[in-house]
Amino acid sequence: MQQNSTSLGLMHKEYWKMLWKSKMHERLKLLLWRIVCKSLSVWEILSKRFPIPNISCPVCGEEVETVEHIFIRCPITVQAWANSVWPLNMVVFKDMNIDQWIKIIINSTEMLKIQGKEAKEFTLFVAVLCDQIWKNRNQTVWGNQPIDSIKLSLQINKVFIQHKQAWQSILGEKENPPSWKPPPLGWIKCNFDAVVKLDKVVLVVVCRDSNGSIVAVESQEECPGEPLWAESKAALLAATLARREGFARVVLEGDAQSVIKAILKPSTTPHWSIKAIIEDIRTTLNSFVCWNASFVFRDSNVVAHSLAQ
Ligand SMILES: [Zn+2]
Repeated sequence: MQQNSTSLGLMHKEYWKMLWKSKMHERLKLLLWRIVCKSLSVWEILSKRFPIPNISCPVCGEEVETVEHIFIRCPITVQAWANSVWPLNMVVFKDMNIDQWIKIIINSTEMLKIQGKEAKEFTLFVAVLCDQIWKNRNQTVWGNQPIDSIKLSLQINKVFIQHKQAWQSILGEKENPPSWKPPPLGWIKCNFDAVVKLDKVVLVVVCRDSNGSIVAVESQEECPGEPLWAESKAALLAATLARREGFARVVLEGDAQSVIKAILKPSTTPHWSIKAIIEDIRTTLNSFVCWNASFVFRDSNVVAHSLAQ
C-alpha cells in the first residue's frame, strides 16, 4: 500500500488506534485508512501516473474526481448524509481536505459532540457510508448506471444495521429495546432533550399519551449555550407546550438529572444560570391539575434525543 506520510502525520495516532481497535470489519477500517493515505484509485490520483482522457467524477461529472469530491462534495454523498440517521449538512465541510474531514468523523465525540456508545456507532456508520459510496462509484466505472440517492441511502442503512447487529453479537450484547414507559391513563408524558451543537442549541419535546401515541411535538433553536442551561430551556419548552395544548395531567421527562431534581425540589437552590428558568417551569407546571417530573437514562429518552440530533 502506498502511504502518504504527510497525510498520516496530520492524523492523531490515537484516533487511528481507536479505529484499529474498534470491532468493525477489517475491510471497512482499511477503506478509511486508504482514503486518508490517498491510496484509492480515484481519477485525479491515477492521472498523475497514466494518461486518462476524462478525470471528472464518474457518478456526477461535476468536478475532477478527488477523494474530497467523492467523500465530501459529490451530490450523491451529500444526499446520503442528508438522508441518514446523522443528517450532517455536508455543505459546511465542503472546503475541507480529506485529513480534516476524517479527523472530525473519527473523533466525533470532540468534534460533533456525539457521545459514548453512539460515537462508536457513528464511526461504523461513516465507514459503511464511505464503503457504499466507493462501491457505487466502482460499479459506475464498470459501466453500470449510478444508483439513485434514495436507493443508496436505503442500502447504506441496511448494511449499517447488519454490521451493527454483527458487532453486538460479537460483544455479546442483546439489543435492548428502549425502556420508555407510557404515562398512566389520562396523563401526557413530555420527553424533552437538548443537543448542544457548535453554532446552536436544538431543543426538542415529544408528548405522548398512555397508548404511547405522539400527541404533540415541538422543536426550537437557541443560541449556543451550556448543556445544563440548554436542558432547562428544553424542560421549559415542554411545560409551555403542554400548557398551550391544554393537557391537564403532565409528566416532564428528561435525561438531565440536575434539571429534574431542581424542578421537583423547590427547596434546593439550582445553579444560578438556570434559576430563573426553573422558576418559570414551576410556575407553568402549577397551572396543571397534576404534574410530575422524572429522570430517565438517555436510551429511554431516545425519541426526543434523536429528533434533537
Ligand atoms: Zn461526483
